[in-house]
Amino acid sequence: MTPPQPDQPLRVAIIGAGPGGLVLAQLLRDDPRFNVTVYERGSPEVKGASLTGYRILITPDILDSLRCQLPADVRVLLDKAVGLSQPNGNRMCFMDEMCQVKCRLDVPASRNMLSISRWKLRKALLSCSSNFVKFGRVFSSYEIDGANGVKVSFADGESVHCDLLIGADGAGSRVRKQLLPGSGRSNTDVTVIYFKAPFTPETEAMIPWASGVLAMAPRRSMVVAYYKDAEKPYGPYDLEKIDPEDSFLMLGMGSYTNEFVNQSKHPDEMTPEELKDECLNRARGWHPLLRALLAISVPSSVFLSHIKTQDPIEPWEPGPVTILGDAAHSMTPYLGQGATNAIVDAMTLAEKLKSTEDGKGDENKQQTVTARVGEYESSMLKRGNAVVKNSLYALHVVYTLGSTSWRSWFRNLILSFWDLLMPHPTDEIEPFPVSYNQSLKKAK
Ligand SMILES: Cc1cc2nc3c(=O)[nH]c(=O)nc-3n(C[C@H](O)[C@H](O)[C@H](O)COP(=O)(O)OP(=O)(O)OC[C@H]3O[C@@H](n4cnc5c(N)ncnc54)[C@H](O)[C@@H]3O)c2cc1C
Repeated sequence: MTPPQPDQPLRVAIIGAGPGGLVLAQLLRDDPRFNVTVYERGSPEVKGASLTGYRILITPDILDSLRCQLPADVRVLLDKAVGLSQPNGNRMCFMDEMCQVKCRLDVPASRNMLSISRWKLRKALLSCSSNFVKFGRVFSSYEIDGANGVKVSFADGESVHCDLLIGADGAGSRVRKQLLPGSGRSNTDVTVIYFKAPFTPETEAMIPWASGVLAMAPRRSMVVAYYKDAEKPYGPYDLEKIDPEDSFLMLGMGSYTNEFVNQSKHPDEMTPEELKDECLNRARGWHPLLRALLAISVPSSVFLSHIKTQDPIEPWEPGPVTILGDAAHSMTPYLGQGATNAIVDAMTLAEKLKSTEDGKGDENKQQTVTARVGEYESSMLKRGNAVVKNSLYALHVVYTLGSTSWRSWFRNLILSFWDLLMPHPTDEIEPFPVSYNQSLKKAK
């Protein structure tokens, strides 16, 4: 690594203003030992259907640890991003497509998870960022430039120099591709269509079980979850467009990419209305509750995700370029841990960089920074590779173990046994939609 001058701040360039890049920037921005700049290809006012408007799950210990380290002004805004939980916490369950509960996931680890608005998290992390986030800058490549450090080049032909370059540029990371040319991502052949629906007292009551469900049918699945804003829990809504500030129901309909009911065009070419029709067609014969939720989804909120997963990354020689978050360990969404891990990476790297004070003022500063980056990379790779693997298992439980009706039935049977073995905060399975099913039976 090129020696940073002992009396000069370390020039840190971060590519990407996602949760990972912004957390790292916020944790370093007030420390005079660092001069941090984030380069983001997008614009500050991105709105609407993008992923920025959905939600993430985060554990309270990670959130607390992050809160404690953030500047006070950001902390206040971060608190506003935390959604309201139900009295017994975040409790999900696996069910079949007829809303029969198979396995409740209400162990403390999942019950404690907090639902965070990605939009509000981004807003919080962008506060006071005018001096450290540069929008509209598309990273194209880097070059180790002798005594000048790392030369970072952008698509517009401009370039800057830094001492440490961090690729926080998401799953398709260009920084990773240059740093680790052999690293690849595998296609799972699964595509999920996400929609939002208005969150009102009525639609809240339509959530099939507690805080949400993963309904699994052979070769298909549907997730129902929500973000309930503390200041404005229920609308009012513009039914054409759900504002990213608002509470919402989140619906995600997954299937193999080549098994769309509508085979007339590639999913990427479908309009939001066609994607909504696709979900409704796919759910023919499913429980009316799931179909009703799909029917009230708002087309303009659609987000189409072709699920890919990072192939394991081997450790590399530490130097002046590193990666974090999805750039290093993009994973399937079936464990809901991608953003949490990006945030943990950022906190770990910030802590390591701040501990380079030991070498302050001497010519060993360069080696100290490299050593700390190396320590970060070891722990990040160990954790990241493991969670990528687990989230791929989770996808296999849904799709590979559900590839035929028989397999699906057997998988659900095992889940039902598992449910018996797990502790639950309440003895009874909540009445809805069980009571609904009973009423249906009586009506018949
Ligand atoms: C629908 C959905 C639901 C999810 N739900 C959850 C959940 O509940 N919990 C959870 O923990 N995770 C969840 N995830 C995963 C989570 O979104 C990601 O893991 C997380 O966003 C990764 O953060 P990041 O900062 O590493 O990358 P990103 O959020 O992808 O940010 C990367 C940034 O880099 C920018 N960028 C990319 N290339 C360039 C370039 N060349 N030049 C400049 N800028 C560039 C991008 O514009 C972007 O702003 C979900 C994902 C999906 C698809």
